[in-house]
Amino acid sequence: MDRRQFLQAAAAVPLLAAAPPPDWARLRRALKGTLVLPGDRAYGTARRLFNPSFDRVRPGGVAYCENPADVAACLSFARAAGVPVHVRSGGHSYAGWSTGPGLVVDVARMNDVGYRDGRAVVGAGARLVDVYERLAAHGASIPAGTCPTVGIAGLTLGGGIGVVSRKYGLTCDALESVRIVTADGRLLTCDAHHHAGLYWAARGGGGGNVGVAVSFTFLTHRAGRVTVFFAGWPWSKAGAVLRAWQSWAVEAPDELWSTLHLSRDRGELTVELAGVYLGRSDALRRLLRPLTSRVAPSWVSARDTSHLRAMMTMAGCSGLTPSQCHLPGQTRDGRLSRAAFVATSHVAYRPLSAEGVRALVDQVARRGSHMVLLDAMGGAIARVPAGATAFPHRQALFSVQYYASGSDRSWIRGARAAMRPHLGEHAYVNYIDPDIASWREAYYGPNAARLAQVKAAYDPGRVFRLPQGF
Ligand SMILES: Cc1cc2nc3c(=O)[nH]c(=O)nc-3n(C[C@H](O)[C@H](O)[C@H](O)COP(=O)(O)OP(=O)(O)OC[C@H]3O[C@@H](n4cnc5c(N)ncnc54)[C@H](O)[C@@H]3O)c2cc1C
Repeated sequence: MDRRQFLQAAAAVPLLAAAPPPDWARLRRALKGTLVLPGDRAYGTARRLFNPSFDRVRPGGVAYCENPADVAACLSFARAAGVPVHVRSGGHSYAGWSTGPGLVVDVARMNDVGYRDGRAVVGAGARLVDVYERLAAHGASIPAGTCPTVGIAGLTLGGGIGVVSRKYGLTCDALESVRIVTADGRLLTCDAHHHAGLYWAARGGGGGNVGVAVSFTFLTHRAGRVTVFFAGWPWSKAGAVLRAWQSWAVEAPDELWSTLHLSRDRGELTVELAGVYLGRSDALRRLLRPLTSRVAPSWVSARDTSHLRAMMTMAGCSGLTPSQCHLPGQTRDGRLSRAAFVATSHVAYRPLSAEGVRALVDQVARRGSHMVLLDAMGGAIARVPAGATAFPHRQALFSVQYYASGSDRSWIRGARAAMRPHLGEHAYVNYIDPDIASWREAYYGPNAARLAQVKAAYDPGRVFRLPQGF
């Protein structure tokens, strides 16, 4: 078609009625919180996630919501203007799905942590280190993850595997009720008796799917003295350690949780064990023996400490105060750094065969800087039926995370593919991976069908859309 034909053809097509441009100024006026737009001084920081790989994404606006009414105003604006919604709590989504070209609905300012009579009411924007610190003042805690700056919302909605999960279950297992703003702007309190489908989906169905959680009520557990331990082996024993660990870790008492890391960093290969025992170090040393007598470690260290210090140590913040255990800007004296990484996962339902162990060790030994992290499951996690919450992997023995620094996905892709014959397809939604084509089965297994029903009931217009979302 030449230019003249093009102009004739264009003239023959009636102009489509253009949608009015989004009225960002009106949204700004409607919010108690702050709307940051491109051009505002705060925009460069406001659009960032934890992972700098997503710094290239430029949202149309970032709304720091102060309360559920702000969230409802954002959703009303987005529906009317046809602007995509991206919900954000701690901003650690592996796929960067808490940002995008539309409106980021940020809940970080709703971060109160209250405690009363064994229950914690936690704002959806609270970060894990703050939850641990505030509850420690009451001698209490909840089972939650290791990364201090992860948001309670993303963690809980995807399940939440933590260092006391073998004793007290996943983060979502401690969830008694959750308040959610739905796509139509309603604020619903969901528990076993009210909006039970939504409550079910909020326990492992993954963040960003069915509404914006604004606060969580958890049943807490007592937080007493614990033992933190570490051990290391030469790389030549990697296979033997892995074989021994995978049965030892799940046969251990529920009070004992551990994570095994096989790493390659600048050419150096290491095998390290870290863990927490809800008891004293002398008892822990006895419990370690079935493992250490099978494969003698090069070194072991174990130390009694408070529950809070243990969480700080597992967070990589052992020499820091809780306030320092944040990113710069989150607190006055935050000392942590953002990190560019790629990761994916498997969830192991059976111990690895000798061939599977060899395959995993071989993958770690390949060129590059990367690691495999195996987190013990079982215990209280396994005592919840697979359909009781949306998190399906109740009978799994351990999770397997493939993690590489930087933004090159080739090692994680290759490692997961190489391990598929040994571990199948199961994966953990909180280690969300855009490359997993069969994500419904991988993340949710038999629970996928019910999740689709809940989605249809509460978000029929699909206001919340994720590339891997119902
Ligand atoms: C260094 C590191 C360590 C980790 N350690 C653990 C661990 O020990 N155990 C574990 O289980 N996981 C762990 N994770 C994974 C973590 O649980 C997930 O990345 C989690 O989704 C992050 O939540 P977030 O709120 O920080 O992230 P975000 O990026 O803010 O959110 C994650 C997803 O949830 C959605 N979402 C956020 N807020 C809301 C809300 N209020 N309502 C509805 N949807 C929402 C987002 O849209 C997004 O899709 C770790 C991650 C990192 C980076």
